[in-house]
Amino acid sequence: MVGPHRVVRFECVGKPMFQANCHCDGCRRSGGSVYASFAFVDEADLNIAGETHVYENLSDAGNTMTRHFCPRCGSHVYHSNSKAPSRLGVRVGLIESADWFQPQANVYASRRLPSTLMDPDMKAFDKMRS
Ligand SMILES: [Zn+2]
Repeated sequence: MVGPHRVVRFECVGKPMFQANCHCDGCRRSGGSVYASFAFVDEADLNIAGETHVYENLSDAGNTMTRHFCPRCGSHVYHSNSKAPSRLGVRVGLIESADWFQPQANVYASRRLPSTLMDPDMKAFDKMRS
């Protein structure tokens, strides 16, 4: 019998379309870290097993941000934005082997904590348009 608090597992079969670090307040709070790293993938490429707990809030642009958490351990697994609902941002820290991770941009750089270093050669956006 499967209990109500199964661990969430996921597997991605495609390559990420975008990789980024986010310094916004929501991402910092959802993971308890000073910023969050994401690999954005198409929902068709992400197989998720187990039910997630969902938390929604509005983005600066007024779109709904839906964050999915593992109900057993509380980890933030991924999120979607109602503006592009099929694009899922997976928290890179949860991926078993993520040596390939190479962020292409820092988003919400305006919300970065002063002690967080950013690669000056990487694109930085003060906000996010979606
Ligand atoms: Zn964020």
